[in-house]
Amino acid sequence: MTNKTGFAFSELTLNYRSSPRHPESPERLQKLVDRATETGILQDTVDISSYGDAEPFLSSIHNEEHIQSILSGQTHAREAALEALGLSLGSVRDVCSGELNNAFCAVRPPGHHAHNHGANYDALGAGEGFCFFNNIAIAARYAQSLPGIARVMIVDWDYHHGNGTEWAFYQDPSVYFFSTHEWQAYPGTGNPERLGAGPGTGYNLNVPLVAGAGDEEAMRAYAEQAAAAADKFNPDLILISAGFDSRVDDPLGTFQITDAGFSRLTRLMMELADHHCEGRLVSFLEGGYNENGLALAACAHLEMLKSGV
Ligand SMILES: [Zn+2]
Repeated sequence: MTNKTGFAFSELTLNYRSSPRHPESPERLQKLVDRATETGILQDTVDISSYGDAEPFLSSIHNEEHIQSILSGQTHAREAALEALGLSLGSVRDVCSGELNNAFCAVRPPGHHAHNHGANYDALGAGEGFCFFNNIAIAARYAQSLPGIARVMIVDWDYHHGNGTEWAFYQDPSVYFFSTHEWQAYPGTGNPERLGAGPGTGYNLNVPLVAGAGDEEAMRAYAEQAAAAADKFNPDLILISAGFDSRVDDPLGTFQITDAGFSRLTRLMMELADHHCEGRLVSFLEGGYNENGLALAACAHLEMLKSGV
């Protein structure tokens, strides 16, 4: 049986451009959507509508100073960031209500580096690691307000460590954060010794992979460590920070994960979601800067989400 899979996208997220030739460009998302359309992958997916006004949800993760630094900034950046969040919330809404089995949020700007440092924190002047609002963290908090969703597991297979997400839930035993990344790369966080703090101790797991790591290293991390964590944690919902800069040939990464590798990782997460939480799985686009490569990997991911386990 095939899944009822949602696809969240809005052209509003394409109007924003940080600077000419910036790697986090509208073209990367446009190519992904073009390829998904041309190959027919979107024919039997369900278009997800935005939650609507996402602004009231921002304070679940971000402080007022951070929120205002973005809301008072460039119009297109503000619109894209709020729309990305609205689509993320809409996806969680439709999967947690049972209307959809799973969903992929094809959104930008990404979110997993966003803390509370304001819009102009990094040298490129594009938020923290190209991120403004932490879509996945805010979506996890929103999910916990819905019936039957108490424990949320977030896995992050982006090449970079999801430091903003780790920060958001570091002391929180209700959200388990699991990340693979290259430790030496931006932002330099992701130490495997950081296991959470206070009541959150034991609910944070960093698994750095070596430079050049490929399908086997990534699969091993998820099949062994993420699966063991899920078995212990027993999540009500699984969310994926689906960054595809961990793909082979990405200009910002060294990993060698293939499109087939992303299919396998996706299938594994679907199996864990089936086992623990009736298949409830939502993934959010994070990085991925080889435009054609991103399109191929994301389509492989989406194709697998649609197939029944
Ligand atoms: Zn990344």
